[in-house]
Amino acid sequence: MGLGCNQGDCQEHLHAALEGLAALAGYATLALSSLYLTAPVGKTDQARFYNAVVRGRYSGEPGELLAGLQAVEKARGRVRLEQWGPRTLDLDLLIFGELVVDLPELTVPHPRLAERGFVLIPLAELAPELIIPGLGLTPGQLWERLPAQERARQELRQIEWD
Ligand code: AMP
Repeated sequence: MGLGCNQGDCQEHLHAALEGLAALAGYATLALSSLYLTAPVGKTDQARFYNAVVRGRYSGEPGELLAGLQAVEKARGRVRLEQWGPRTLDLDLLIFGELVVDLPELTVPHPRLAERGFVLIPLAELAPELIIPGLGLTPGQLWERLPAQERARQELRQIEWD
């Protein structure tokens, strides 16, 4: 899962998200990446984002997990005012084992995963050897494939968890 926040006390929102995830039936977190501060993508005139990735185990279906993520987002007061705008909490289902899902409400692996350093770099920390289903490359290879200018623009900075 990818976690993001750029509004309010982000460390607090992200800690609450981790607790919310852990409380989902059938879900267990196995590993948590470092925390990263990153330049916003999409709509760039907004605060920097705090991002991290968690690896977990889930006993249900991907659609059920997505519903769980949305419940955790909502519990943290996320109001979706505009696409790619500021948010207290954004949870994305990045990868679900070997599964490839292409439904109107759910695409797995996450469709923008391959362009986003804030996903690829923490994912490389947790699973450097992982071949992303459908893409056939590891997170590090996908990152290296991006133009140097684009990698620099994303301004990834590793920071400490509180
Ligand atoms: P966002 O505003 O970026 O959080 O996008 C949320 C919307 O993306 C929801 O309506 C989801 O149904 C949809 N969506 C599609 N694929 C995914 C995914 N892999 N993870 C999270 N949301 C997804």
